[in-house]
Amino acid sequence: MLNDRPPSRPPFTCPSCGTQTEGKYCSNCGEKRITDEDYSIRRYLEEIFSAITLLESKLLRSLWLVASKPGYLSREYFAGRRVRYIKPLQLFIFLNVVYYFSLTVFTATTFTTPLATQLHMNNYYPGYASRRVDHKLQVDKISYATLESKYNGKTAILSKTLIFLLIPILHCCFSCSSFGIESFSLSTW
Ligand SMILES: [Zn+2]
Repeated sequence: MLNDRPPSRPPFTCPSCGTQTEGKYCSNCGEKRITDEDYSIRRYLEEIFSAITLLESKLLRSLWLVASKPGYLSREYFAGRRVRYIKPLQLFIFLNVVYYFSLTVFTATTFTTPLATQLHMNNYYPGYASRRVDHKLQVDKISYATLESKYNGKTAILSKTLIFLLIPILHCCFSCSSFGIESFSLSTW
């Protein structure tokens, strides 16, 4: 079996945990022994390339599995097989960023409900919505166009905020799952 530790290499004191250790990595915390080679431009470029390709491979693999096999990543996560995938929260935040950019590019209203929709495509509380709009127009003494513009601007911001509220909710789901309540996990992750 090959040994990655040259015999002439003396022990070193780990700068992170203080453990006296041998080899390329700290036996206690895994910190790498720093050598002159670590400060070379070649190593710097290698690390950039490695970080990008590793992140990309994890991200692309995770995205593909979320789309192609709903629930598969959840099972992998709870089975403890996590190193090949991006962390759930990282994926969630990444998708949120993509979603925000897509809103500016495509002017989509996936998670927003414009005022016209509230009034004309509302099967649940159309009378209430109309009364609220009429009341607001009278109180603020503004035109419907002005109210609609203000409302749609606010609802777009509010919808993004509400999506971020999903982060602690998801955290609770994963926490519950770690105590054995795996039914709380989302089927898409
Ligand atoms: Zn250490």
